[in-house]
Amino acid sequence: MNTNPNCLFCKIVAGTVPSEKVYEDEQVLAFRDINPAAPVHILIIPKSHIDGADALCHEHSELAAKLILTATKIAFELQLTEGWRLVTNVLTHGGQTVRHLHIHLLGGAQLGDFGVVKEFRRRPCGNNLGDF
Ligand code: AMP
Ligand code: ZN
Repeated sequence: MNTNPNCLFCKIVAGTVPSEKVYEDEQVLAFRDINPAAPVHILIIPKSHIDGADALCHEHSELAAKLILTATKIAFELQLTEGWRLVTNVLTHGGQTVRHLHIHLLGGAQLGDFGVVKEFRRRPCGNNLGDF
């Protein structure tokens, strides 16, 4: 198992930084986000350090599927019957602040827009009308 001594989430895996765990098995850990953006906000991570979704390769296929299946299991157990969202932020433009692969599971209320560059959204008439 890869571990990075400077990585916050590796410290959570090791138990040297506390977390509110909601699921754990040999490969995967899920815990509550310390600064929740929704009534349910859980982070699902591989126990083995992977920098982010950009660092995934073919050998991670089974693990990547397991991360998503873990989200589905937790959403079911928490009875998020009206819906939920998975997000993984990648590098700077993606807004990744912790460089250990994690999937955010968000739910428990109607979620707002995400991933929208505000300047794009504000254009009332699309991109093809020129300036007038
Ligand atoms: P991201 O910005 O996508 O890299 O997500 C990192 C997430 O980790 C943020 O939502 C933080 O609130 C969360 N976070 C940071 N430190 C902790 C911690 N000690 N325990 C739980 N969640 C944390
Ligand atoms: Zn790590």
